[in-house]
Amino acid sequence: MNGAPASSSGDAHADAIPRDVLISEVRAWARRMGVENRLREIHVRPMKRKWASISTRGRLTLNSDLLRQSAAFRRQVLVHELVHLKLGHGAHNKLFRSLVRAYLALDASEKKPGDLQG
Ligand SMILES: [Zn+2]
Repeated sequence: MNGAPASSSGDAHADAIPRDVLISEVRAWARRMGVENRLREIHVRPMKRKWASISTRGRLTLNSDLLRQSAAFRRQVLVHELVHLKLGHGAHNKLFRSLVRAYLALDASEKKPGDLQG
């Protein structure tokens, strides 16, 4: 935890995760998906209309409301954005959708049944 000023003050929900945890999740997925070198910047801030966005140059912006979402939901959002980075475009085409499905299935298969809640 560094001395950066808190950009949003109303984040005291008991079940919110720290921003650092979200960022480590992003880095773990980027490593696993082979895009760690392309991921240049990670920003967490309030967003009005989206959960996240990514530029082809590797600038990922995450909605700070993700800190209050379930792990399963965060995973879907992170994988979605990082597949855009991997493919280098923003299209939701067939290849995009099958890669997202494959990465999410990969993750589920590494967990024991009953380990998936939360
Ligand atoms: Zn998308």
